[in-house]
Order: sequence, then structure tokens, then C-alpha cells
Amino acid sequence: MSESFDVIVIGAGPGGYVCAIRAAQLGMKVACVEQRATLGGTCLNIGCIPSKALLQSSEEFHHAAHGLADHGVNVANVSLDLARMQARKGEVVGANVKGVEFLFKKNKVTWLKGAGRIVATGQVDVNGTVYTARHIVIATGSDSTPLPGIAVDETTIVTSTGVLELNTVPKHLIVIGAGVIGLELGSVWRRLGAEVTVVEFLDRIVPSMDEEVAKHFQRILTKQGLKFRLGTKVTGATKCADGATVTMEPVKGGAAEELKADIVLLAIGRRPHMDGLGLAEVGVALDERGRVKTDAHYATNIAGIYAIGDVIAGPMLAHKAEDEGVALAELLAGQAGHVNYSVIPSVVYTDPEVASIGQTEEELKHAGVAYSVGKFPFTANGRARAMGATDGFVKILADKTTDRILGAHILGPDAGTLIAELATAMEFGASAEDVARICHAHPSLNEAVKEAALAVAGRALHI
Ligand SMILES: Cc1cc2nc3c(=O)[nH]c(=O)nc-3n(C[C@H](O)[C@H](O)[C@H](O)COP(=O)(O)OP(=O)(O)OC[C@H]3O[C@@H](n4cnc5c(N)ncnc54)[C@H](O)[C@@H]3O)c2cc1C
Repeated sequence: MSESFDVIVIGAGPGGYVCAIRAAQLGMKVACVEQRATLGGTCLNIGCIPSKALLQSSEEFHHAAHGLADHGVNVANVSLDLARMQARKGEVVGANVKGVEFLFKKNKVTWLKGAGRIVATGQVDVNGTVYTARHIVIATGSDSTPLPGIAVDETTIVTSTGVLELNTVPKHLIVIGAGVIGLELGSVWRRLGAEVTVVEFLDRIVPSMDEEVAKHFQRILTKQGLKFRLGTKVTGATKCADGATVTMEPVKGGAAEELKADIVLLAIGRRPHMDGLGLAEVGVALDERGRVKTDAHYATNIAGIYAIGDVIAGPMLAHKAEDEGVALAELLAGQAGHVNYSVIPSVVYTDPEVASIGQTEEELKHAGVAYSVGKFPFTANGRARAMGATDGFVKILADKTTDRILGAHILGPDAGTLIAELATAMEFGASAEDVARICHAHPSLNEAVKEAALAVAGRALHI
């Protein structure tokens, strides 16, 4: 038996590394097991950060080529250096993962390098050495969900991991799945010149999004050149000499069809990762969807074993995993850790961005809640006009009787930042009138939030 810890966290993604740091801050002796060569998990290595680096770079390229002339800035011969763009992405990832390593050292968190396996309550095996702990935290994240009939090779038929590494711009990219990841990464390659076809089983894009927002969003993406095949079931994809052929058929029935592409991105969702963890052997229970089952305090059915992040229920988002990491560390320290699941923002980092928080109009209707809607378009916002970014609107949903904000949805420039104001308001139980009466700087995009809040009571000023 070797070293003993108060907490061993398995997995150093945003859930695991944040939990480890917070537990160490609270005075616990902490180890974090990570099998990858670098810390930071899916998010920093192959998820949020590299995708946002490429989204930013491809937006700069597209803007330089198509968006500057209108501002009176003439740039001739804009050309793409994809190798440099990819190298920059690598530098961004490198700086972030090294940052986590620094934070581990600063907080005296021990990184146990290798794959962790729970061998018994309070015991974790890493490379043949068994470490003991009072508390074990499973934070092993998620992987891309496979689709029967499709063999991913990460060069021609790829997941998000492979599509982030392409070293030439595909002529035609087929994206299977119109969720957040498919649309963000489809946008990257569209901006760099690829023809992009998105094939989706459902008859709409991003199913969790407010329907009105999703419809406008799809219209904007279509204008940008993305092609959509909705209500279409992919039945297989096979590699051929110069790419892959995808077979598909209408969900409602009809003739099957083949579509050729040089790259196929499989992006139908993610599923919890728990391979080789030893959960079945120790008796850790899973829920009906194969996720680790936890109670409200992240405890599994086995004493001393907890789970957080993508491996448990809830939205698969880095900030949700982080907040669970903090809450669990505080609970283990005897404090009152808590995550408010009704106020978790979710952002699509396309151009324009889409951000939402709380309930959609469909959810409110389904729950029989009486609500008021306030909407304000960016075409009527001075700052958005000055930026030349007038696509989209802010939509606020408030309780009809109390005026409390129940949901907010923003399609527009920097929506991912704008939504934070509404997250703060909702955490404080604000009414739409509260937000409407806050003095907002002029000219700012946030004025559109204020105007949407005014519009809830039918008294927007600038429309
Ligand atoms: C392309 C892409 C873009 C995304 N963009 C965003 C975004 O913009 N915003 C957002 O909020 N979310 C985004 N996500 C989702 C986000 O990455 C995840 O929600 C988040 O990483 C989950 O954190 P986690 O800590 O639960 O797990 P992960 O980040 O998946 O980390 C789990 C870690 O555990 C390690 N591990 C697994 N098993 C073992 C074991 N037995 N022993 C040792 N180590 C192990 C893995 O190697 C991994 O490093 C994106 C995901 C992808 C794929």
C-alpha cells in the first residue's frame, strides 16, 4: 500500500481539476489521476479551447476576406495559412494545459500519471500502485457517441477530435448531427472555404434551444452557406478512394440516397466515459442512460465514491462540471456546496453566437406556466449597427404574474458574454423590470438586453 490522500479525483478535466484545486484550498491532501499526457481533459485538449481557437482564427480570416471592405478597409489577396492557424491553436491549448499544471503545483495537488481504476472502497490503482483515499471522485468525462454502420478512423471519418486536426480544407464536409459541436466545427470549415452539408435526424437544429431562436439561427447559417438536410437518417458511411460516401434516407420514409464528401464529421452527441474504471466490480450503480447515478450531493450508491461532470446527469458543459467540482469539494469539507441547475448558461460560439439560460418558450408552455415575452432586435441597437453585426435579437421570458425572469435567449454578437448579465439577474431572482431599470452604458450591446426587459412590459424605448 502506498501513499494515502483525503481525496483522489480520477480525471483532470474541468470537473476533476477544479474539484482537486478547491479541495486543496480547503486544506485537504489531494491527488488527481490523469491518463492523458497533459491536464485539462476534453475541454482544454480536444474540446472547448481548440475549437474556440479555430473559431476565432477562421472568423478573422473570413472577416479579412469579406467583412472589411464595408468599413472602408481594403485588403488585397487575403490568403490562408492553415498550418500557422493550426500551430496557433496548439499554442493556445499548450498555454492552457500548462496553466493547470502550474495550478496543481501552486495548490500542492499531486498528479498521479496513468489510468486510475477503483479496486475497492477507498482504493485506486494507478499503474499497479494502489493509493488510498477517504473520498474518491469520478470525473472521467465523456467520448463521442458512435453511430452503428460508421467506423471512425479520425482521418476521413472523424469525430470532433479529428476535425480539429485537419491540415487541408475539405472540398465537401458532411456533418452528421446539427448540435452545438457540429454547427461550431461546420462553421469553422465553411469559413475557410469548404462546402458543408449538415445532416440531422430531427426536423430542427439544436433541439434544446428555444424554437424561435433555432429557426432564425438556421436561416443565418443557411445564408452563410451551410446546407441542411433535416429529418434525414444517416444509415452508414464508407470510405472510398478520395473520401467517404454517406448513405441516408428520409426519417418519414422514402428513397435512400448517397452523398459523397472528402471528410465526414460524426457529431451526434457524447456519452459518459468509464472504461476500465472498475465501476461494475465495485458495484457503482448507473442510471437509465448509462451515466453514473448520484444523489443531490454527488454521492454514488457506494460510500466514499462520488461523481461529477459529463459522467453524470445534466448538460455536458465545462462550466457545469467545474461548478459541480467546487460544490463537491465544499461538501466534502463540511460546507454547503450547491449548484443551481436552473441557471446554467449554454452558448454556441458561431457568428453570431447563440446563448440561452433558463427555460425555453416551449418548456414554459409544456409546464403550463403563464409568461410574458420581451424581444429586441440588434438592428435597433446602435453599437450593433456600428459593429455591422445586426443579425439576431434578445428574448426574455418572464412570469406573467410576478415578472420574475424564467428564461433568456440571445442570438447576436457576443451573446455568450451578454448572457452573463441575465445569469446574474436570475441568480438574484430578478424581475424583468429590475433589469430594465439598471443603467446600461451607451452605446453597448447590453442595451439590447435592457430593451428586451422593457419589452416584457410592452414599453421598449428604441423600437
Ligand atoms: C469539440 C468540443 C467542444 C466543446 N465546447 C464546449 C464549450 O465551448 N463550452 C462548454 O462548456 N463545453 C464544451 N464542450 C464540452 C466540455 O468539453 C465537457 O463538458 C467538459 O470537458 C466535461 O468535463 P469533465 O471534467 O466532466 O470531463 P473531461 O473534460 O472529459 O475530462 C475527463 C478526463 O478524465 C480522464 N480520464 C478518463 N478516464 C480516466 C481514468 N480511468 N484514469 C485517468 N484519467 C481518466 C480523461 O483522459 C480526461 O482528461 C466541448 C466538447 C467538445 C468535444
